Amino acid sequence: MARQLVSVLGVGIDSVTMQQAVAIVDGFVRARTAALVATANAEMVMLAQQDQELFSILNNAELTLADGAGVVWAARRLGSSVPERVAGYDLTQQLLQHAAKTGYKIFWLGAAPGVAEAAAAKAAEKYPGLATVGVHDGFFDCDDGAIRRLIRDSQADILLCALGVPKQEKWLNQYRHELQVPVMIGVGGTFDVMAGKAKRAPVWMQRAGLEWSYRLLRQPSRFVRMLALPRFVARVLLSAWTSR
Ligand code: UDP
Repeated sequence: MARQLVSVLGVGIDSVTMQQAVAIVDGFVRARTAALVATANAEMVMLAQQDQELFSILNNAELTLADGAGVVWAARRLGSSVPERVAGYDLTQQLLQHAAKTGYKIFWLGAAPGVAEAAAAKAAEKYPGLATVGVHDGFFDCDDGAIRRLIRDSQADILLCALGVPKQEKWLNQYRHELQVPVMIGVGGTFDVMAGKAKRAPVWMQRAGLEWSYRLLRQPSRFVRMLALPRFVARVLLSAWTSR
């Protein structure tokens, strides 16, 4: 089926539900394509406005999902819509559950030493039967071929990559063919949350589109990064207004 893409400030976002996203990823695993999956939030869309490489990666990824409430809101404001938010953390949980049933093998790459192990251990408890075939922290030399060989030799079906934005997208894109993994997903801070090192906003805040404010309160150091959010809102409103 042809992809249904919605442009949010030039970034093509797939108009899919969580359930459809899981089915699409399943299709990538079966087809054994080297598919890149990106989960885009407002911060990332804004970063892509100045970072041509990231812009191009997001537009060439096999699946680019609406990770944040801001992107869902923007799509609607710009005259199209995406059915729901498909956050990277939630997608990861759905895929792990699916992998435990299908036997798909997972490689966990990223976060501080010990965090990916802890996340994988939590996942093994939560999703019995889950096959983890490799774990490595995210503080390695990006040019280090040994890490790539480790991943390739693991014969993983899904690589969860938590190196932060835009490092994870760039690294995955650069080595996607060498890694020989059917599906590669940039999952940001997911391992930290799974390992209990970071907390996600309560569900009511997520539903109200306020996850960003929770992040800001817990991590005031994100303030400068988050200045992108009001700029995102202004850009979207301007773009909606000029296209009327
Ligand atoms: N990280 C990493 N290697 C690096 C830089 C960051 O593994 O060189 C990890 C970091 O420890 C954290 C994740 O990447 O687990 C980024 O989390 P954040 O919540 O900042 O995600 P983002 O908003 O960048 O997607």
